[in-house]
Amino acid sequence: MNISLKLTMKQARCNYCGEYIVKGEPQIKWSWKSRKGWVGKTYYHPDCFIDDRLHSLKINPPATVTKKLGRPISKLTSEQRTLRIKLMKYYSRDKGSPEKQLKLREQIKAVGGVPASWE
Ligand SMILES: [Zn+2]
Repeated sequence: MNISLKLTMKQARCNYCGEYIVKGEPQIKWSWKSRKGWVGKTYYHPDCFIDDRLHSLKINPPATVTKKLGRPISKLTSEQRTLRIKLMKYYSRDKGSPEKQLKLREQIKAVGGVPASWE
């Protein structure tokens, strides 16, 4: 796709309003390529081009990106999160005693669940 603005050398018809663009007036030429080479071109008055593009933007608004990259945001509140981190620390500290760890597991289940790697 190639868009250029220059003075008209040869009379052309505007693709938006249908009127002729007279020689010597500014014109916008919009041409595009396929595998075969330059296959299409349209001409516009500079003002008509902007109207045309704004119109097509209204008809086909660009899709809003909803998916974000990175780790998903946790649904826990900040207090729940700090409690969860605290319990996780206790869990790793009490590696020697399985009874304590079992108790902690129950508590962790209440705030966000046990990590999948522990199952
Ligand atoms: Zn026009």
